Amino acid sequence: MTASQPAPTPGPDRDGPAPLAPGTTIGILGGGQLGRMLGFAARAMGYRIAVLDPDPDCPAAAVADRVVPAPYDSVDGAFALARGCAVVTYELEHVDAALVDAIEAAGVPVRPGGHALRMTQDRLAERRFVAGLGIATSPWREVTDEAGLHAAAADLGLPLRLKAPIGGYDGRGQVRVATPDEISGALARLGRPAGTRLLVERELDFDAELSVITARALDGTLGAFPIARNRHDAGILVESVAPAPVPEAVAQAARVIGARIAEALEVVGLVTAELFLLGDGTLAVNELAPRVHNSGHWTIEGAGTSQFEQHVRAICGLPLADPTAHGPTAMVNLLGAGASREAHLEGAADALADPLIHLHLYDKRRVFERRKMGHLTVVGAADVEDGLARGRAARAKLRWA
Ligand code: ADP
Ligand code: MG
Repeated sequence: MTASQPAPTPGPDRDGPAPLAPGTTIGILGGGQLGRMLGFAARAMGYRIAVLDPDPDCPAAAVADRVVPAPYDSVDGAFALARGCAVVTYELEHVDAALVDAIEAAGVPVRPGGHALRMTQDRLAERRFVAGLGIATSPWREVTDEAGLHAAAADLGLPLRLKAPIGGYDGRGQVRVATPDEISGALARLGRPAGTRLLVERELDFDAELSVITARALDGTLGAFPIARNRHDAGILVESVAPAPVPEAVAQAARVIGARIAEALEVVGLVTAELFLLGDGTLAVNELAPRVHNSGHWTIEGAGTSQFEQHVRAICGLPLADPTAHGPTAMVNLLGAGASREAHLEGAADALADPLIHLHLYDKRRVFERRKMGHLTVVGAADVEDGLARGRAARAKLRWA
């Protein structure tokens, strides 16, 4: 490992429960692309997979021994999933926390854990948790009505982001308030029932968005992946590069934030912190996710272990692997375009004419505007900007028929 990626630090408790042997079954709440890639990694290590998802043809079905078709808030479904599983994990934080309690009460551990889920599925709880650690975020307020929003605007200044605390993702569930006359209509634009608790925060003029994915093993050992630099388009991640071309002091500060959050949430598995790098070189936490993350997809080819394998190792009680990057890596997302229709990708051979490009498709049956359909990874480029240029060029050769 290089100096910038210190060896995992041994945790305090070396004598935890025995690791889960390969051959046992891992349950995954959610069968999207994250569950699918987790499943690939788990199967490679000999584990079996059960998935709960409303859609029996979900992306993870291809790697699952068993699919429980049920909504994410179905306690019966959760029991059906947990039956025969040695451990249950989740690929999305919008799982009902009561489900996690029910599974744990039935004697099956849920990792990263119910506490991490509760703290991160509600943006207001998350803000209070992060503030409690003394870690910076954008200045924020809780509001429930228009008067509160006006007061927050006077306090915080414009522009603001008004965010629904629960259920938002990929930029959905938030509106931007840029001018004073946009304040009055903002609650209606967000479209939540009157009286709903909302998070409003100052929009920050950041230099870059970064993320740190931290693994915490069952014995408390920590290991951070190299920091990613991410670009979003209208709230949806479109590109990541790693290791992020930032000063070592910034990368170190990001790792410290990740480690403190992983420990405070007592995660077993991964936790991702989305960060804003501000003009003065300091970091502010934007959002947490107690799971594998789109900004870590580059690790499949680009690091000593993938985020998916690392998560599996952690939740199964195994030692963590070396997360060091092999070199500069870029990842570009493949988003859908156009009306909803059957998904057929064209141009794969053209895109793969650059031998540094790797194609990942999530096998979603239907494509629609801005749906996450797959991603490209570029490994072996001269630097991350070269990687990004190659990734964009390859993406331009792909289209949905
Ligand atoms: P989601 O759950 O949809 O990822 P985020 O809160 O992470 O919600 O917002 C998505 C993106 O919107 C962020 O990655 C960032 O690009 C932008 N954004 C959100 N909040 C702010 C903010 N306070 N200042 C500047 N940009 C923001
Ligand atoms: Mg986000």
